Amino acid sequence: MPFIGKIEYHYLHAGITWSDGGGAFGLVPKIIWEKKLPPDEYNRVPLHLNCLLIKSDGKNILVDTGLGHKLDERGARNFGLDNSGGTLLGALEKLGLAATDINIVVDTHLHADHCGGNTMHHPETGAVVPTFPNAEYWIQRLEWADAMYPNERTRATYLLDNYRPLADTGQLKLINGDTPVATGVSTVITRGHTRAHQSVLIESAGEYGLFVADMASLSYHFERTAWVTAYDVEPLENIETKRRWQNWAADTNATVLFQHDPHIRAAKLHRAGRHFKLTPLDD
Ligand SMILES: [Zn+2]
Repeated sequence: MPFIGKIEYHYLHAGITWSDGGGAFGLVPKIIWEKKLPPDEYNRVPLHLNCLLIKSDGKNILVDTGLGHKLDERGARNFGLDNSGGTLLGALEKLGLAATDINIVVDTHLHADHCGGNTMHHPETGAVVPTFPNAEYWIQRLEWADAMYPNERTRATYLLDNYRPLADTGQLKLINGDTPVATGVSTVITRGHTRAHQSVLIESAGEYGLFVADMASLSYHFERTAWVTAYDVEPLENIETKRRWQNWAADTNATVLFQHDPHIRAAKLHRAGRHFKLTPLDD
């Protein structure tokens, strides 16, 4: 059972999205990134949809909910959704938990691959309802505003059905900036991927962990500040954010937890001359 200090956490695999390599690697030339992550015949790379379950204060805290299951056939094809390795609710069940056991959902941001599983089609009525009926959903106020009023660039990923129903059922909790969630667990603003992107910090008994989410979508993005995805709304902000957290991770010997990386889920960051290097852990 993985722990950071006294805090228990578990990865939950909610599928894979096969995404264009140019999106994942931005300005980095393919001739460089393809050696690290070879694409398929459509130039797509596998981005895993890993969510995190954290237990603290007797609460089950779920960080992000994957892409969910509301997409029609065309939508699922566009996102390259592959659930052959399992679903979020299936992963919870393996831990002995049902959707009703989740007390808090933290959305790192409201891009579809992070909050699609917030809601689902009701099996009888087909209405879009929260997947976790007893949970409060903690979302940054500025992220909510950006997602409720998307622009031409963000419209394809900010899908109202993934979050607007939470306001109707009274389950939405808007938060402002860095926010304590439970003992040893807090959210921290890691601006750049979106204006109010948040990561989840675990601090317990002298040990540190950070679920980085899309501050560094893949492990390569955390080792190299200049490697940013084409999805980042503020790439230069994200570079500065990463510089700060790289130094923090090396100084505190933190466990860095990745969301989309197909090979590395947990790692430690070390200084290597002027650069940083990750050492993977078996989480
Ligand atoms: Zn993402």
